[in-house]
Amino acid sequence: MSQYKINEVFESIQGEGSFTGVPSIFIRLQGCPVGCPWCDTKHTWTIDPMLERSRDVVMAEQAESEHWFTHSVEQLLALFAAQGYQAKHVVISGGEPCMYDLVPLTSHLITLGYSVQIETSGTYEILTHVDTWVTVSPKVNMPGGKPVLASAMQRANEIKHPVAMEKHIEELDQVLKLLPATNKPLIYLQPISQQKRATELAIKVCIQRNWRLSLQTHKFIGIE
Ligand code: SF4
Repeated sequence: MSQYKINEVFESIQGEGSFTGVPSIFIRLQGCPVGCPWCDTKHTWTIDPMLERSRDVVMAEQAESEHWFTHSVEQLLALFAAQGYQAKHVVISGGEPCMYDLVPLTSHLITLGYSVQIETSGTYEILTHVDTWVTVSPKVNMPGGKPVLASAMQRANEIKHPVAMEKHIEELDQVLKLLPATNKPLIYLQPISQQKRATELAIKVCIQRNWRLSLQTHKFIGIE
């Protein structure tokens, strides 16, 4: 039975990429070795056995925390019901969700009629149900030293790239070379931390390349 280490589960509105505005249940998995300096979920990086807590303790926490709990697919669905979630779209993120075999979880959700999206750095093999929408946010030259995999780029339905400076565009151009001619994912640029210069750069390049702009709309309206 597959077990997942979970940092948080909550219902909100997807704020980024193609599904912006879609009511969603978010499952944030624990663990990530990629080490992006500007990561806004550093509390998910470590899987420390001493920080495992019960589901109820983690679900009751109001602030970001390094605590996590373990659940099977069946337990997660029971949690959805207990919480009274209404959304029919599930976003599995992290941390780095592809540290886990996501086939059992994504398959079960899709069988039940949910649409499912994962958000990954592209540094792990992607193991999901074939109908899962894969968002690759390629993390290039990060301190963790993990390369972006060609197999992840080939599986991507959308590429969502955080940008703050020109070198981030150059890095994206490098990983886009991994795309096979048969895969033409949507490409989004997302300004890092809503910085003005980053936003101006993203707008300029999106217009030049006919790419799309992804804003972290949930941060503008003050929701999780
Ligand atoms: S891959 Fe994602 S979770 Fe991991 S360090 Fe980078 S931004 Fe943070």
